[in-house]
Amino acid sequence: MQHFPVFLDLQARPVLVLGAGEVAERKADLLRQAGAEIRFAVSFDAALLEGCALAIGADAPESELQALATACRARGIPVNVVDRPALCTALMPAIIDRAPVTIAVSSGGAAPVLARMIRQKIEALLPPGLGRVAALAERFKSAVRARLPDLAARRRFLDATLGGLPADLAIAGREAEADSAFATALDAAETRPRGMVHLVGAGPGAADLLTLRALRLLGEADVIVHDRLGTEAVLEMARRDAERIFVGKARANHCMKQEDINALLIRLAHEGRRVVRLKGGDPLVFGRGGEEAEALAAAGIPCEVVPGVTAALACAAGAGIPLTHRDAARAVTFVTGHRRDGGVDVRGLVQPGQTLAIYMGISTLAPLRDGLVAEGMAPTMPAAVIERGGTPQQRVLRGTLDSIARDAPGWVTGGPALLLVGEAVGRGAQGWLQAA
Ligand code: SAH
Repeated sequence: MQHFPVFLDLQARPVLVLGAGEVAERKADLLRQAGAEIRFAVSFDAALLEGCALAIGADAPESELQALATACRARGIPVNVVDRPALCTALMPAIIDRAPVTIAVSSGGAAPVLARMIRQKIEALLPPGLGRVAALAERFKSAVRARLPDLAARRRFLDATLGGLPADLAIAGREAEADSAFATALDAAETRPRGMVHLVGAGPGAADLLTLRALRLLGEADVIVHDRLGTEAVLEMARRDAERIFVGKARANHCMKQEDINALLIRLAHEGRRVVRLKGGDPLVFGRGGEEAEALAAAGIPCEVVPGVTAALACAAGAGIPLTHRDAARAVTFVTGHRRDGGVDVRGLVQPGQTLAIYMGISTLAPLRDGLVAEGMAPTMPAAVIERGGTPQQRVLRGTLDSIARDAPGWVTGGPALLLVGEAVGRGAQGWLQAA
């Protein structure tokens, strides 16, 4: 993080604005909206800083601006000099004002125009009456605490209410009705809510390949149980104060045993928490989601599965490879390169007009190649390995079954990688990507 955002309380506090002109006036107007008492000056004098909470420099001679910046630094007073990042210890963000909700956007001084564009997008998303929702919550704050002492119960109630009817009424300006809807909901609130587990597909590891449902659940979760390296971008989208429990493989270390993960999910749900079990790709494709769902069902815990973009789909799209093609493949098979006992099993996999998407196949490439050839596949069959498919770090190696078996082990860099094999893999996919 380049700068740390905080919100200043400027009510009745002096703010020095150095400079005269339109820019200085605009800054002063904004600051007045936050209750600041503006001290205008056209030339700098250190005595002017006495008691100031903030200082702004605009439209003043260079030497004055320098003196202002130096004096503020010495006194620990945040200072912003318009368009002079080197003189600033504080940045002026683009502001979205829905008092008491304030949203500030900064590009760290790199591109103020971008910050303004972001601001416009956010302005369009948020109803003008949003502040009334915050005011509604504030009015009921102590009543909610008294009725729902349990933190998880309180969060659950507020999530539902502030996204539901009482909020809609407040936004519409019908505040008396909003209050009565809030009070009714509070009366009916569960004091000890039941926990639930959502088995959520994280997709291949790019935040914008999450589903909207996954995004919402990540924003609501009390606890997130995750197991993949490479899901950092996705975890960034989660609620900041959600507990995170890592149960996966950190390279050499062994991951938590499946039975222990099942027991953990059950215990968390019994505590009444909203659990997101985040799994790479799709939870039900080689992800043991089925085993977890069975264990939860046996324990009587409600469970929902949220699909995700599985590696085969992300890799195919990212590398520009059609999985099916009317001239080359009418079936696609998702298969693992490993049996449970560690061996490989390719019996029956070689069929004309089929694409194979082989998961977890990189460590067993040589026996896979031999097995496929023994089943009748041509060693010249088009093939590709895609590493970290669908993410900004994606890499693609194209070739034939033989060349891939020979080259891929030295080419991979340790990220998750998928093997695609079949006639369709050789189609002129490069062309689409170049066209795009
Ligand atoms: N449930 C996951 C698969 C888990 S098995 C899914 O639906 O995608 C783990 C294997 O998936 C890895 O060994 C690799 O073969 C493949 N994989 C997962 N993410 C990948 C990615 N971003 N790029 C390439 N392969 C990936």
